[in-house]
Amino acid sequence: MHPGWSGNPDAIRCVAPLDGGKCREAGFVMLDPFREIKTRVTPAEAARHYGYEPSRSGFVSCPFHSGDRTPSLKLYSDGWTCFGCGAGGSVIDFVGKLFDLAPLDAVRKLNADFSLGLPLDQPPTRAEREAAQKRREEAVVYGDFQRWREDMTRLLSETYRLGWLALRDMPESLWLPGEVEAIRLLPALEHWLDSLGGDFENQMQVFRKRKGVRKICRRILKSIPERFKEV
Ligand SMILES: [Zn+2]
Repeated sequence: MHPGWSGNPDAIRCVAPLDGGKCREAGFVMLDPFREIKTRVTPAEAARHYGYEPSRSGFVSCPFHSGDRTPSLKLYSDGWTCFGCGAGGSVIDFVGKLFDLAPLDAVRKLNADFSLGLPLDQPPTRAEREAAQKRREEAVVYGDFQRWREDMTRLLSETYRLGWLALRDMPESLWLPGEVEAIRLLPALEHWLDSLGGDFENQMQVFRKRKGVRKICRRILKSIPERFKEV
């Protein structure tokens, strides 16, 4: 681990070796100053620093609307919301609004006031630019994956629901042999639904066999008599 490594390991990732001569700040490069600030300063710390002492339940009097005698601005670990005037956002938004600063200037102020020493005003190195680009690409891939997961979850739960209804209401003697075979696959659907709701590795297990999973759903849906598919 690099000596300068700190904060959220997701936010700071070394993309150049210590001895490669490209790292600044003792071996790490900053990928996103906004994200970095948010991992280093909580809204409560900022509020306190600028004179707003949070109550035990994390409320302060809102500086953004007048007459807030019962404090209605709630500070969370990663943001804040005022239940009185509806203002809210990140720690950067809080400081920006408090001092009437553009977001990047609020980042600069937090950097200075909390002595974070982030190298904000140096032009990004090539490694930083490439890392930022890679993160943007990863975000797109992640979004696509989440959409796939939602679609698949819908398909699986709908197929499972219909199969379950049919199984409940139709004696097995009425099912054709091929249909019985299909409907016996229902527990697998339940298993895949569990996996999709589980951690990333479980989700990936379903993703890898997604074609087969869709095929089985189609097969089950085909075997279910039409009257069960009417809502
Ligand atoms: Zn307010």
